[in-house]
Amino acid sequence: MIYRIAVLPGDGIGKEITPEAVEALKKVGAKCGLSFEFEEALIGGCAIDATGGPFPEATQKLVKDSDAVLLGAVGGPKWEGLDYSIRPERGLLGLREVLGTFANLRPAKVYPMLADASTLKKEVIEGIDIMVVRELTGGLYFGRPKGIEKLPDGTERGVNTLTYTTPEIERIARVAFDVAGKRRKKVTSVDKANVLESTELWRRVVSEVHKGYPDVELGHMYVDNCAMQLIRNPRQFDVIVTENMFGDILSDEASMLTGSIGMLPSASIGGKVGIFEPIHGSAPDIAGQDKANPIATILSVAMMLRYSFNQEKAAEVIEEAVLKVLEKGYRTGDIMQPGMKLVGTREMGRLVREGI
Ligand code: NAD
Repeated sequence: MIYRIAVLPGDGIGKEITPEAVEALKKVGAKCGLSFEFEEALIGGCAIDATGGPFPEATQKLVKDSDAVLLGAVGGPKWEGLDYSIRPERGLLGLREVLGTFANLRPAKVYPMLADASTLKKEVIEGIDIMVVRELTGGLYFGRPKGIEKLPDGTERGVNTLTYTTPEIERIARVAFDVAGKRRKKVTSVDKANVLESTELWRRVVSEVHKGYPDVELGHMYVDNCAMQLIRNPRQFDVIVTENMFGDILSDEASMLTGSIGMLPSASIGGKVGIFEPIHGSAPDIAGQDKANPIATILSVAMMLRYSFNQEKAAEVIEEAVLKVLEKGYRTGDIMQPGMKLVGTREMGRLVREGI
């Protein structure tokens, strides 16, 4: 079987980091007997420049016909003045919409040699390895009615609605239990069931789905407590599954426990084709200077191997190679520490391939 991968480098450092991830895939493919086919297309600002829109038809066709999407990052100062409807970020929303990815997976893992990069005490964050599974297409960000209305007395009223249907909760719960099955087999479902009826349903449905996963442990936690526990005792978590907005906030909190944005991958799955990308943006301040850390993007293709292609061994080979390079003391600028060896984007990519 040949896996067809749509490569969308996007803007800024996206153009520098995606080639390193592609090369890492080729290398692990040669080692593990997997074949890949890569095709590039435009998204974001570069697509606006070339075609007038951030998500051109050619790109839409390519991603729909592929087995997985590797995305760099989009955006930059050049396109900031544009109308919201044609901003580079609209390309990302369009991509998710077209592929129907309803589950966003964001790991937060602390590497022992980088534990000093966190703003929290080393003894609190050492050893954390959390996966936040965020519902991506429903909840408070999409529920209707929404908007701002004028009231008869001249004041205004802003409205958003938190809705979830049983099938929407069932499918995200299944993703969480499946992911936990590949990890330490523990799911914490986060809600506000003491106040919000929609999340009372969430809790009930997650518990129901759990009956089909007897080898996975399930716990429930209120969102305010979860925000606190992530700082107080983050090692207690394996997989956290939660509503769209709760997940937006908690996944950012969890990722900042690690302190290194250039190290964190992500996946959006659940539809026919998964999207794999670093959590960071296009970093215009360092773009084109061979300074960007390619590891988040390289780890994103490890997630692609694990979650889209079920190639656990190949995923581990990449993750171990990254660990080896860090152990040898190589660092890009964003994770540089005294006494370590500073390398650029291309050299970091080469070292990871050597590790593979
Ligand atoms: P950013 O993530 O691009 O950068 C924040 C800071 O982290 C910068 O100082 C940057 O140099 C650094 N950084 C980020 N990734 C790095 C890497 N791999 N290696 C080394 N350093 C890295 O966020 P921002 O500056 O707020 O946004 C810049 C642009 O990116 C904006 O146009 C924004 O809209 C866009 N953006 C896109 C995405 C996406 O494509 N998914 C996500 C966030 C922001």
